[in-house]
Amino acid sequence: MLTKAQQALKERARALAESEIAPRAAEVDRTEAYPWDNVAALTRAGFMGMTVAKQYGGAGLSYFDVVLVIEEMAKACGVTARIVVEGNMGAIGAIMAYGSEKQKKLAAKLVLAGDKPAICITEPDAGSAATEMTTRAEHRGDRWVLNGKKHWITGGGVSRLHMIFARVFDEFDQEQGIGAFIVVRDPKQAAGPQSAAVTVADVISENDIKLSPSTVRRRLRAHFGAAHKSRTHWRFARHSPDHYAVLKLLDAHPGLIIGTREPAMGLRGIPETEIIFDDLEVAEDMAIVPPGGLRHSFGALMNAYNAQRVGAATVSLGIAEGAYQLALSYVQEREQFGRPIAEFQGLQWMLADMSTRLAASRALIYKAAQGAGDGFPDATEAAQAKIFTSETAIAVTNDALQLFGAAGYSRNNPLERMVRDARMFTIGGGTAQVLRTMVASRILGRKLPQTRDGYVKLMHNRPPTRRS
Ligand SMILES: Cc1cc2nc3c(=O)[nH]c(=O)nc-3n(C[C@H](O)[C@H](O)[C@H](O)COP(=O)(O)OP(=O)(O)OC[C@H]3O[C@@H](n4cnc5c(N)ncnc54)[C@H](O)[C@@H]3O)c2cc1C
Repeated sequence: MLTKAQQALKERARALAESEIAPRAAEVDRTEAYPWDNVAALTRAGFMGMTVAKQYGGAGLSYFDVVLVIEEMAKACGVTARIVVEGNMGAIGAIMAYGSEKQKKLAAKLVLAGDKPAICITEPDAGSAATEMTTRAEHRGDRWVLNGKKHWITGGGVSRLHMIFARVFDEFDQEQGIGAFIVVRDPKQAAGPQSAAVTVADVISENDIKLSPSTVRRRLRAHFGAAHKSRTHWRFARHSPDHYAVLKLLDAHPGLIIGTREPAMGLRGIPETEIIFDDLEVAEDMAIVPPGGLRHSFGALMNAYNAQRVGAATVSLGIAEGAYQLALSYVQEREQFGRPIAEFQGLQWMLADMSTRLAASRALIYKAAQGAGDGFPDATEAAQAKIFTSETAIAVTNDALQLFGAAGYSRNNPLERMVRDARMFTIGGGTAQVLRTMVASRILGRKLPQTRDGYVKLMHNRPPTRRS
């Protein structure tokens, strides 16, 4: 049951989604351009930084309030709904909960001005096994120096605020655990990742492969000669055996390099990129240190991720609801065999299943969000909501497309985009398999280590199963 204020908030979100966001959704998908117009509209409406406490300039609203807004946005445009998620949950949630005063003020200011923060966890060799990340943060004098590489970072090249996770090493090279650092990217880079992939053959001959980096760099510069300006410098990284990602950096934040953009299947209006840290210097006071210290910070910061998961689940719910509504109208208009196709019982049952799944998804999401109160959602409830809703969204968008027949398979139909957009949510932010393991761990009341070492220890310490 929504309060009057929540009802009004939902109505306001719906009005904006229908009037401004929906008409631009196809264009955002087609051009793959970050929807700055939508960001401006969200900011004007007060939908960025809604959860930021009033003392920092926000509205001090709850995660449940945000869920109501996300759901309406996602019916119109999944990309825009994701911006609302990250403008209110995830990194901003973590910083407002665990950050210092300085960090909170900095983060609040950026988000309230429309910035969608980026969370940098995943690495090429550390996906689900996030704690196997190798990015290093070394304490050197009065600062931290970060080196490593992340990929699939949502908002790479458009986000200013970055929450970067790294293994932390003290002055004596002793590991302290996994911590997070705040870095604000130079706005002059806001135009997006300026990178190009070139084949090795484009710039060096086979015999030159063993050339020194400086020689290769010189050749790369020659390759892009005309575009080279004195304030431009180049970096390159080998990202496959015969490809270099060549990164053209204009006034870049020193050490934070936006790498290659992934050609993602859906949700194309937000860049998913590599981000490379090359001796990135971070001021000492930009380390986020939750209660319990750096050593335990990964677990604490992951609590904030539970809100992000509920947000992601809500995006998938909204996309599926949008698809369901389109199908519901279509089956009542489209006639075959001399009657509306809604008259066929097979299709009626499909609609019944679709609406039942959506109702169950909404119930799980609302339970997790409302249960959060002033804190973060419960990990199990967030995982259950995301597992169920993300799988529902795949099924419902597919069924909606099926109900349209060939008309659903046309790229002129928004369903085609919705099917692609919905496909993401069983992967990003914790896969459906890994989240099931989290739920199972809670049900069984014990840790379920996934590493080989962990299993060996587990087997070793196992209680005897038979009486001897
Ligand atoms: C669109 C998109 C946006 C993203 N945005 C961000 C972002 O902003 N920041 C960020 O840090 N990351 C981001 N990610 C990365 C995302 O969090 C990872 O993709 C995810 O954690 C899975 O890692 P992986 O892709 O390396 O898959 P892998 O870990 O390699 O998994 C491959 C398969 O194995 C399964 N698997 C792995 N381990 C287990 C296990 N123990 N038990 C059972 N099954 C297992 C997985 O479920 C999956 O099916 C994004 C991803 C996508 C697709």
